[in-house]
Amino acid sequence: MTDHLRQKFEDIELTAGHGKVSAFLSVSLGILGIFSALCFLFPSVLTTPELRPFYTQHYQTLYYTLLGGIVLAAGFGTYSAILKQNKYGFYGLCFSVVAAILGCGMIKAPTLPTLPYYAGFDYFVITLIILALVFIPLEGFFAKNKQQKLLRTGWVTDMKYFMLSHIGIQLFSFLTVMPIQYWITHIPNNPIVPYIQAQPIGLQFIELLVVVDFTTYWIHRALHEVDFLWRFHAIHHSTEHMDWLASSRLHIIEVLITRFIATLPIFLLGFHTSAVFAYLIFISFHAIFIHSNVRFRFPYLRWVIATPEFHHWHHSSEKPAIDKNYAAFIPLYDLIFKTMYMPNHLASVYGTVGYKIPNSFTKQFTWPFKKYVNRLKKRFQKSET
Ligand SMILES: [Zn+2]
Repeated sequence: MTDHLRQKFEDIELTAGHGKVSAFLSVSLGILGIFSALCFLFPSVLTTPELRPFYTQHYQTLYYTLLGGIVLAAGFGTYSAILKQNKYGFYGLCFSVVAAILGCGMIKAPTLPTLPYYAGFDYFVITLIILALVFIPLEGFFAKNKQQKLLRTGWVTDMKYFMLSHIGIQLFSFLTVMPIQYWITHIPNNPIVPYIQAQPIGLQFIELLVVVDFTTYWIHRALHEVDFLWRFHAIHHSTEHMDWLASSRLHIIEVLITRFIATLPIFLLGFHTSAVFAYLIFISFHAIFIHSNVRFRFPYLRWVIATPEFHHWHHSSEKPAIDKNYAAFIPLYDLIFKTMYMPNHLASVYGTVGYKIPNSFTKQFTWPFKKYVNRLKKRFQKSET
């Protein structure tokens, strides 16, 4: 998407009465309908294997939900395009027609051959629907920054990050979790594992929080304090608008580094799969929550666990807040290592200081490498002259 086209979709005020809300709903449901219909058409390659047993059990319900979504997309699109003369409503109508064509006639549950590779189209659609249903009303009713629009500057870029991290779930785990899993299972008689697994799941969950948070505190601190690593993490900090979607803005290299190192203690200590799953779901949801545009302050609790207030200060561009509040969940680590910053008021300005980071997804991908590419270019030019 060109910069010009991206900017057209950003900073749109969803004011009632102009057909914008119905156009937004139509376009969103239409696009999600296309993704879902593709899942029904190519389940072997576009769905997550762990979720397939659920799909087989509830196939008809899911199929009728898809049809319902398409009908709603078409309805909102028709209203917006014809009655309100909104061109985005027309786009939504077109998307719903494409989704209907793709989704037509697939009533029978197909048999699923097991293929080694898949893309998490279903994971993207389901997660986006759940998070949008939770966070859009939450931020709407309890907004910290009431002026911030739903479709604020940078949302298109952040949505691309969200898509990539969900659709590419297998690729990410192939590059991070699997090598560790392979390596750890080849360590004979790890003495810690039976001791950890004998403990109740709840206790293992708390231990995971304590251990992984200690690891991620130091990865996060290194991402800020080592210049080479900071160039990748700066992409995450480049957002000037905090909300639930902003949590997705992470350079692929940062995702790989963080996941690889954070996964190490999980496998090395041999936590039970149930505790690990519960931990991953909880911490992923919590990570989104602390970025969200909400004004809750959680008296007392804000000193014990990381809250939106605590993490918003980490993203603040105010001088005293720079390189502070690294903990993902336990602020105590910041207190111990003297990186805590929690004044009495809430943070209000965000972004990187002293860097001009581009807004587009592709330019953000190449930005961290630019300094080194330019250095190489200069060296070549010097050696030629
Ligand atoms: Zn950071």
